[in-house]
Amino acid sequence: MKVKLTVEKARERVAKFGQKIANSNLILGTWGNISCRMLDEEQVVITPSGVSYECMRPTMPVVVDMDGEVLEGELKPSSEVKVHLAVYAARNDLNGIVHTHSPYASALAVSGTPIPPMLEDMAALIGGEVPVAEYAIAGSDQLAENTVKTLGDKNAVLLANHGVVGVGRDVEEAYNVCLMVERCAQIYVLTKLIGNTNTLSPEDVDTLRDFYLTKYGQR
Ligand SMILES: [Zn+2]
Repeated sequence: MKVKLTVEKARERVAKFGQKIANSNLILGTWGNISCRMLDEEQVVITPSGVSYECMRPTMPVVVDMDGEVLEGELKPSSEVKVHLAVYAARNDLNGIVHTHSPYASALAVSGTPIPPMLEDMAALIGGEVPVAEYAIAGSDQLAENTVKTLGDKNAVLLANHGVVGVGRDVEEAYNVCLMVERCAQIYVLTKLIGNTNTLSPEDVDTLRDFYLTKYGQR
């Protein structure tokens, strides 16, 4: 899955997945953001701030260094660039991050309710529970710190009163994590209405995750 991207290709992918989060109703308007870390280079390609995904051309995503300094691009990087850089600094296994404001996941983020490990595909892709990071205002150093601390070694975290951060080995996997979080949030709310939620054991979660990471798919 580790394919070395040129800056041009990374920008294309960031713009493409921006259109996908808009078309999948994971965000409204210009909210949400996407980034891709360049392998072997201390650079991150991230969506620009406040540009509609419909209008986003492949040349618009911004290249920043690990301190957030703009290296290439004429636009301002996403206002959530600190979250992205802090997560990459803490996790060498990640090269893609997608941040969305999808409705069911946001409802759980508002109520401070983690999503328990309850479906096999969720265990495989996310690695267990989706926890809720303590509230801090958007764009702050504190939000970046809370996100990293609560994410730990999982692939998704809810941000209290805000939305979702999904991470992956590439942007596509991070996007799939965000879709999965929204689907699981919907199912969890439904099980609350039904009245009972049976969760998976930690042992089964570990087995499913390990299978996904080491044996799943065509290799
Ligand atoms: Zn946001």
